Amino acid sequence: MNELRDLATSRRGFLGLAAGGLATAALTAPAPAQTVRSSARIVILGAGAGGAAIANRLAARIEGARITIVDGRQQHWYQPGFTLIASGLRPASYSASSTGEWLPRSIEWIAEYAAEIDPEAQRVTTTGGTRLDYDYLIVATGLTLDWDAIEGFSLDMVGQDGIGAHYASPEAAAATWREMDRYTDRGGVAHIGRPATEMKCAGAPLKYAFLTDDRARSKGTRGDCQIIYAAHAGSLFGVPIVNEKVRMLFDDRGIDVRYSHVLRALDAERKIATYDTPGGPVELGYDFINVIPPQRAPQVVRDSGLSWADRWTDQGWIEVDMHTLRHARYPNVFGIGDINGVPKGKTAASVKWHLPVVEDHLVSELAGREGTRRFDGYTSCPLITRVGRAMLIEFDYNDNLVPSFPGVIAPLEELWISWLMKEVALKATYNAMLRGRA
Ligand SMILES: Cc1cc2nc3c(=O)[nH]c(=O)nc-3n(C[C@H](O)[C@H](O)[C@H](O)COP(=O)(O)OP(=O)(O)OC[C@H]3O[C@@H](n4cnc5c(N)ncnc54)[C@H](O)[C@@H]3O)c2cc1C
Repeated sequence: MNELRDLATSRRGFLGLAAGGLATAALTAPAPAQTVRSSARIVILGAGAGGAAIANRLAARIEGARITIVDGRQQHWYQPGFTLIASGLRPASYSASSTGEWLPRSIEWIAEYAAEIDPEAQRVTTTGGTRLDYDYLIVATGLTLDWDAIEGFSLDMVGQDGIGAHYASPEAAAATWREMDRYTDRGGVAHIGRPATEMKCAGAPLKYAFLTDDRARSKGTRGDCQIIYAAHAGSLFGVPIVNEKVRMLFDDRGIDVRYSHVLRALDAERKIATYDTPGGPVELGYDFINVIPPQRAPQVVRDSGLSWADRWTDQGWIEVDMHTLRHARYPNVFGIGDINGVPKGKTAASVKWHLPVVEDHLVSELAGREGTRRFDGYTSCPLITRVGRAMLIEFDYNDNLVPSFPGVIAPLEELWISWLMKEVALKATYNAMLRGRA
């Protein structure tokens, strides 16, 4: 615990704050930021990691504003926990809480989804028909998992016949564990892979391949298991130095990599997965498969005119400045989280560093000043390599490794302390972030 407390005093990083979440009593709270008075109407779309956290931060900074948050989901999901659930390390309940418990009382929550966003008229219409005129809009809808893009697959297949889909929900993650558990008892062929689109936590499929390997080893069945990792391109990870490390570890663990293989279809009856490859479709048999589908902006965002017109056109991420997270064409619109069309950063750890930037630019404008904070692309991924070991990978827009604890935690080493960050401390940090305190 002392070790964690020392780490908590570090200045940087989501995971530095993870330690802080466990040791808050030992830390001095930062001086509260100055408040401003404003009667602005602020609408936040999405009450997930980014939306709930910015709602708490703005409610604490702005007096007199009318802040409305729109999200029809009653349950809040702590998604970094899904990988632990899908590996049998936590129950499904670990990642589920109620949305309402994270939202400040002083704001209004409309428990419906945004059905239309009109940035010209500065208006959002909800699925229930409520019209919300705004002065500022914060888009924090996260992303949509495009399950329909995988032919022959539907979510009701998860938990049967060797099919998993640990991105879908806490329950789907638990069902994925039941299938992985069965598979590692019996052996056979496992498929784990990633989509060709941008995705949240690009490290999660890699972690899952490591954990499947580890589970089979601890059961003594690894010799009966062929674990295939289907990489969407010619590398395993976008940051070259991390890619090389993972490649070496996969080699060491005997994980069979198929490059440029993108899952297109499942034939559940024959237990065959079809992959698109540069040489045409390839069919591979499986006994266990973890389906992770293409990921896109929600349709309502894609229809709004907020997306990039010339980048990610099949995905629809919103056109924000990569440093200020302010919309390029609608300056009263900001983006937080996975929805942002920026080169890196679809992780909760990145959300942590989006928050002060959006808060600064919005609150400064209300106070008649210009904001100065910038987002540098910070992305973090505690890459689990076996139960009890992880590598704490943190990087920025330039693919520089930006370790939170230089000289203390080596980013490319498999360490117990990095595992502890993911397995124990990350959730406490995440919760502190939601409350606007980290
Ligand atoms: C398996 C898995 C493992 C992960 N592991 C990690 C990890 O180890 N570390 C890490 O930092 N990150 C990890 N992540 C990523 C992290 O969870 C996301 O990056 C983070 O939650 C993004 O926050 P967000 O607010 O953008 O989206 P979310 O938290 O997904 O919230 C989006 C919210 O918007 C709502 N919404 C959607 N459409 C609408 C609409 N039309 N109107 C209103 N509301 C809407 C949704 O209901 C949801 O509540 C992982 C994710 C997964 C799936």
